[in-house]
Amino acid sequence: MFEFDTIAAISTALGEGAIGIVRLSGTKAVEIANTLFKNKDLTRVETHTIHYGHIINPKNNGKVIDEVMVSVLRAPKTFTREDVVEINCHGGMVVVNQVLQTVLQHGARLAQPGEFTKRAFLNGRIDLSQAEAVMDLIRAKTDTSMTLALKQVDGQLSKMIKSVRQDILNTLAQVEVNIDYPEYDAVEEMTLSLMKERAVVVKRDLEKLLQNAQQGKILRDGLQTAIVGRPNVGKSSLLNRLLKEDKAIVTDIAGTTRDTIEEYVNVRGVPLKLVDTAGIRQTDDVVEQIGVERSKLAVEQADFVMVVLNQSEPLSQEDIALLEMTAHKKRLVLLNKMDLVGQLNRDELLKYVDASTVIELSVLNHFGIDTLEEKIAEWFFAGNVNDKDASFVSNVRHIALIQEAIERLDDVLEAVEMDVPVDLIQIDMTRAWELLGEITGETVQDELLTELFSQFCLGK
Ligand code: GDP
Repeated sequence: MFEFDTIAAISTALGEGAIGIVRLSGTKAVEIANTLFKNKDLTRVETHTIHYGHIINPKNNGKVIDEVMVSVLRAPKTFTREDVVEINCHGGMVVVNQVLQTVLQHGARLAQPGEFTKRAFLNGRIDLSQAEAVMDLIRAKTDTSMTLALKQVDGQLSKMIKSVRQDILNTLAQVEVNIDYPEYDAVEEMTLSLMKERAVVVKRDLEKLLQNAQQGKILRDGLQTAIVGRPNVGKSSLLNRLLKEDKAIVTDIAGTTRDTIEEYVNVRGVPLKLVDTAGIRQTDDVVEQIGVERSKLAVEQADFVMVVLNQSEPLSQEDIALLEMTAHKKRLVLLNKMDLVGQLNRDELLKYVDASTVIELSVLNHFGIDTLEEKIAEWFFAGNVNDKDASFVSNVRHIALIQEAIERLDDVLEAVEMDVPVDLIQIDMTRAWELLGEITGETVQDELLTELFSQFCLGK
């Protein structure tokens, strides 16, 4: 295990809360906490116990800062595999901050974002894909994305990647043996055809992993969704209906601009990440004037677009403009206000859209919402979001690495066809092995680590 300095951070969400936790990790964690703890000698308590008492500031005449519960967790059975102390304070930022400041005055250093998890990785408790899953877990938008992240924390993806790497390694080892001991007959000779056979198997395994990757990515990041339509067709009513029926989650994602509020709607397990809801919600005249321009931007950013039309009015030029603008997108056309007499010419509409993508709605009367939700689930997840399948790869970094490894295997296969000597082919095979190692962190670069962990929130 590495010897690191002792770090500290507030581990609970910023803002009002019933409790706030200041966490310390490192060789001096218990010692530092003990200096500040009034009621007991924490250096003598048993590990994995929790203690009631007061945190004081010895540098300020022993002034009591808060009444607390302190957990003492000795290495190695902790998240970081180091000594960990968690000080449970009363919520409210002032108190928690004061406790943190006092801890910092007494020998701890403020942790960088993700540093606790980074230590867990460096100390060998988890591998890189598991560490990344911890971040996903914090950001999970739906139950399914949470289950997915939990499985990854548990190491299921790592296990699969490790087994594929082992296969490659066995193949490489055999090549080495053949090169080093050409006279040693007992070793199965690594012929080109055998090399080919192995590469095909490994490639197939990797392709299987990628099969559901698109869904995995949607589950993890949300499906970028835009709702567009003329003023008054019912966009905000639809948005509110969706928000009401499926718990909306508004998140303030750490690492992005501080004031970016992202809004999610959970449609049967598919997290829709709504683009530009502010544009939908504001109905003052200024915004209406720039409506189409604004829609254009929202449409460009979206992976999925819902065009809302008011079927109690004829199709207008503006409607047609929106339909043309969205034609290249994965799109549903919603005919709203079905409770009113229809004025929209369906034949004309069908000149612009495919009938199977049209859904009749009355947001007001609750009509058609189910059909809409079913359609979304069906479209993006073939009807069911299958969280039982642990082979979901959801992380873009992992997807890219697996794709690249597959390309290297293709190179191997191509070289085999061209009768390239085996010892040359093994260079590509080795590269595939290295690439996969970057997923679990076994062959990872330092800069990448710093970059990855800096995306975490503070205190994790
Ligand atoms: P937006 O400007 O597109 O966001 O439209 P709104 O959601 O603000 O809706 C405009 C008006 O249409 C409001 O008065 C809604 O109550 C009404 N509305 C929305 N959906 C329906 C519907 O299905 N039927 C009827 N009759 N009215 C609706």
